[in-house]
Amino acid sequence: MRRPIEFEVNASDGNARTGTLRTRRSVIETPVFMPVGTQGAVKGVRLEWLDDEHDARIILGNTYHLFLRPGHELIQRLGGLHKFTSWERAILTDSGGFQVFSLTDLRKLSEEGVEFRSHLDGSRQFLSPEISVEVQAALDSEIVMAFDECPPGDAGNEKTRESLELTLRWAKRSKERFEELQKSDRKGGLNYQRPDLALPYGQTSALSGRQALFGIIQGAGHLDLRVESLERTVEIGFDGYAIGGLSVGEEKDVMYGVLEHIAPKMSSDSPRYLMGVGTPEDLLEAVSHGIDMFDCVMPTRNGRTGGVFTSRGKINIRNARFAEDEGPLDPECECSVCRRYSRAYLRHLFQAGEMTAATLLSHHNLAFYLNLMRQARTAIAGGSFESFKKAALGKMTEIEAEAV
Ligand SMILES: [Zn+2]
Repeated sequence: MRRPIEFEVNASDGNARTGTLRTRRSVIETPVFMPVGTQGAVKGVRLEWLDDEHDARIILGNTYHLFLRPGHELIQRLGGLHKFTSWERAILTDSGGFQVFSLTDLRKLSEEGVEFRSHLDGSRQFLSPEISVEVQAALDSEIVMAFDECPPGDAGNEKTRESLELTLRWAKRSKERFEELQKSDRKGGLNYQRPDLALPYGQTSALSGRQALFGIIQGAGHLDLRVESLERTVEIGFDGYAIGGLSVGEEKDVMYGVLEHIAPKMSSDSPRYLMGVGTPEDLLEAVSHGIDMFDCVMPTRNGRTGGVFTSRGKINIRNARFAEDEGPLDPECECSVCRRYSRAYLRHLFQAGEMTAATLLSHHNLAFYLNLMRQARTAIAGGSFESFKKAALGKMTEIEAEAV
């Protein structure tokens, strides 16, 4: 039977691994960082920079935001999210669950789903496992996420268990509705605007042209519940598996403990996705435990406030010490911003409130994240990931050390 995605591990180094994920629209080398395109746009960044310069093969779209505005039906009428945005490569859509549960005071949870008030106009809205996969089918992403409940990072055992049971029931419902939709509603054809650009990256005839569905493992910081969640999610059966509910306010060692315990137990022949994490340090740590896919708003969110990730650590370009600094943001970065602009000029743009300041910093930060994953893949393939990780993490503390 033809499958919607194919994944193979090319090399392992300890628990770290590098692989190839084939989707109908692009071939993705893992570990991979997926820039977050919340509203069908990666904030402040032109899509042609993402494909032409950064060679990003997959980005993320947010179901919650697109459901509320402009609406998935409108996007479907305009040919799906790829055609609407002009992004030809792969897209992963989240389920909307995480955003809805962030609206603590504005939502009501039931077995059926979640009623919430839109953050845009206060209108009453409803999301359920069925509606979430329907929205994601209309958006026509390559990877669809099951609808889950995400408990707070410090939730107790009992509350976490209740949430986990609900998430498992919702996972089954997500899958049932997903399979109906894949059978009946889909036209099955791809709508390339620029087939010349898209073809080299995907559409291998071995793939089915359908969407793929990932299940989500919950269980907060409770290792026994995490293992149970993993086993019972695998029983339902998905094309890939994600670890959810981390980086939601728990301590770092709790997150690293869960990763160390759970990631190596996840199926070795499906992609493993760590949702919404994190700093460059978090990414390297997670890769060492065998995670393949990441997404996080940090590169663009930091870029908008002057935060810059560099190989020697994080800086804030607004700092007065960069006023006459003629060097690039990161001397080791080869992105077009680092090749052309000085820290002094970029600082000036920030001080002057020029909108390109946020754009240029976001561009560099994405280059830094994507390049970090590129280096990790090379190190894993060469069997030197641990020494690469140690050296990279050591270097990332240099600026901090100077500032003390
Ligand atoms: Zn750069």
